[in-house]
Amino acid sequence: MKSGRGGKAYFIGGGIGSLAGAAFMIRDGEFPGSRISILEANPVLGGSLDGTADPARGYSMRGGRMLTTDNYECTWDLFKSVPSLTEPDKSVFDETVDFNDRYRAHSMARLVDRRRAKVPVTSMGFSMRDRTELLKLIETPEGDLGSTCITDHLSPGFFDTGFWYMWATTFAFQPWHSAVEFKRYLHRFVLEFARIETLAGVKRTIYNQYDSLVAPLQQWLRSKGVAFVTDCTVTDLDYEDTRGNFSVTAIRCLRQGRSEVVIISEDDLVFLQNGSMTDASSIGSMTSPPAELTKTDSTGWTLWEKLAQGRPQFGNPTVFNSCIAQSCWESFTVTLRNPAFFDEMTRFSTNDAGTGGLVTFKDSNWLLSIVLAHQPHFVDQPRDVQVFWGYGLFPDRIGNFVAKPMAQCNGEDILQELCGHLRWDRQILASANCIPCRMPYITSMFMPRELGDRPLPVPAGSVNLAFISQFVEIPDDVVFTVEYSVRAAQTAVYQLLRIDRSIPPVTPHDRSLRAQIGALVKAFE
Ligand SMILES: Cc1cc2nc3c(=O)[nH]c(=O)nc-3n(C[C@H](O)[C@H](O)[C@H](O)COP(=O)(O)OP(=O)(O)OC[C@H]3O[C@@H](n4cnc5c(N)ncnc54)[C@H](O)[C@@H]3O)c2cc1C
Repeated sequence: MKSGRGGKAYFIGGGIGSLAGAAFMIRDGEFPGSRISILEANPVLGGSLDGTADPARGYSMRGGRMLTTDNYECTWDLFKSVPSLTEPDKSVFDETVDFNDRYRAHSMARLVDRRRAKVPVTSMGFSMRDRTELLKLIETPEGDLGSTCITDHLSPGFFDTGFWYMWATTFAFQPWHSAVEFKRYLHRFVLEFARIETLAGVKRTIYNQYDSLVAPLQQWLRSKGVAFVTDCTVTDLDYEDTRGNFSVTAIRCLRQGRSEVVIISEDDLVFLQNGSMTDASSIGSMTSPPAELTKTDSTGWTLWEKLAQGRPQFGNPTVFNSCIAQSCWESFTVTLRNPAFFDEMTRFSTNDAGTGGLVTFKDSNWLLSIVLAHQPHFVDQPRDVQVFWGYGLFPDRIGNFVAKPMAQCNGEDILQELCGHLRWDRQILASANCIPCRMPYITSMFMPRELGDRPLPVPAGSVNLAFISQFVEIPDDVVFTVEYSVRAAQTAVYQLLRIDRSIPPVTPHDRSLRAQIGALVKAFE
């Protein structure tokens, strides 16, 4: 066990990665919770897993998550130890499994076309060329794919297949994204191939992920004595960097506007969340679009950029944060006080809320999708209130029913566009409150990259600094998942504390299919 055991631990950033890291230290490293501090710039913890409950002003969440129980090995390893807040004799894992047994995902209206017809999706719509190219991509080693994009490997026709519309909107891929990342997804989620059209493999949490994952984990950490320091932006790290050994010696932060310095001793450990997909995100209202923030409005990337300067082992943040046009999209949360919309959607989709998953308007200029989760979606949501969430992957395009790019739309405009695609009178959403959310870096993790652009969780030569985020290198696993952050945290903690327990491996669902795929590729050549 490392000497850090006698010291303190500081997590910079309060996302699920840090919360998980603190929990692994306590559970598996026997590290006292009272010696752990989590420093978060925002007033609340949870990072991207947010959920703001305000029945009067309207509910808001940046994202809604799909999970699986066939993957997410580290996430469930953690949440099997965290008691549920609503049923304390059960773990969060158990309550989630029970909930999904009761409300099974089986989408009946996955894609809807411009005539508002449900698109038959039992066939993926592949040509022979699509099949060959896809199989080749699946089998090409990551080193050979390098920093190429998906379009470098698949012909234009592929991007018009039912498969692409479903895969791209389920996982938020764009044609210009990393071929390596797309390939990893095809392997990691190979089981979804057979059920992508019904989303039958998807598991949901009971409520939004702040209420169902963050809150119980935070409560468990609090009971162990962990200190949560909110409104605290870490602005710089002091360090010694000699003969290839890098040690943090102080953390400089702005705590509620005041400068503070935390001295880091030899025995202390520092875990940094380097980069965030929701950095510089902004919310609008029914009457105003979200502000168009950029990197200069945020502090999220700065620290990583400073550390990486002249240190290739700390990665290359500019690869991920230099092109908002390629990494931005917008979500929205709608609060209703009238069941008419949910009733009409149930009739149209033949799915009860919580069993359908995504409904994507495949011909919409914004590539609009909505998700009606099981209600209530927030712990204290009144019975007469309904909440749903949606997103558009092309916010820079003019709408089909609103003559503006989504990025310039307020909540009112977004509801009008949605009603247009459904061919429903705007009246059905008359009392609705729609809060749009712009996320300029939401798919920054998918930007084309080389090996080495992301640091290892514990880079070579690092004595007491680890990186835990979506922007670290972990073999075989896929970004844009809760699992990736939890796995990164578990890896970093186990390494720095020298914990002798194995990390749950990435389940090799693809291995059994690999031999068959290889034979197929040869046959097509
Ligand atoms: C719209 C959307 C949809 C998603 N869908 C899915 C899905 O279907 N399935 C799935 O598994 N995952 C999904 N995800 C991804 C998942 O939510 C994230 O991967 C995960 O929450 C990231 O956690 P994190 O802890 O790594 O980082 P974050 O949650 O980004 O947390 C980082 C935190 O660090 C803080 N911070 C950064 N720099 C500093 C600093 N210098 N000082 C102090 N604090 C700092 C930030 O304020 C932030 O709170 C989705 C995310 C979004 C936004």
